[in-house]
Amino acid sequence: MLNVNLNENIAEVALHPKTKRIMKMAFHQKHLRFKCQRCATFCCKLGGPKLTERDIERIKQVGYSAEDFLEPLSNREFKGLPVMRGSLKNREDGSCIFLKFDEEKDIHKCSIYNVRPTLCRLYPFEIEKASPYFFVLKLIPCCRGLNVQRGKMVNEKFVAKYLLNVT
Ligand code: SF4
Ligand code: SF4
Repeated sequence: MLNVNLNENIAEVALHPKTKRIMKMAFHQKHLRFKCQRCATFCCKLGGPKLTERDIERIKQVGYSAEDFLEPLSNREFKGLPVMRGSLKNREDGSCIFLKFDEEKDIHKCSIYNVRPTLCRLYPFEIEKASPYFFVLKLIPCCRGLNVQRGKMVNEKFVAKYLLNVT
């Protein structure tokens, strides 16, 4: 583990209105690294993530029907989440129904990794949009993949490659 303090706000990002490419990025959090440890401690065991229409379609395309995985949102939960159409079902212990334990390798695996929902692709990062072309990049500090020695540096390249094209 690297000795870097974790701030909740990592960076402010301005996008070009036409190309949507990054025009300017101001980092508050320097030298941050990330590599998922496959611990599934927080991201996959705290209730199923909310799903967009596109998430639902992607999961259906690999052979699941909506009844297998979709938990509709109540009207109350919908408030303020206009793009969300439901959430993934979870087991009684709160873990996502697509979480599997690989005993041979002693790691947790997502059984729909290639089509996992947008929020799963982003975790432990969050994008708080201030306008269509400006957002604040935040992180969820309890994730065990942050500040690890062999992690990828969270810089402009990382944001462009892993966080901007996940929807
Ligand atoms: S994203 Fe973080 S909490 Fe989730 S499995 Fe990876 S290291 Fe663990
Ligand atoms: S879909 Fe995969 S990555 Fe997302 S919560 Fe479920 S097991 Fe975890």
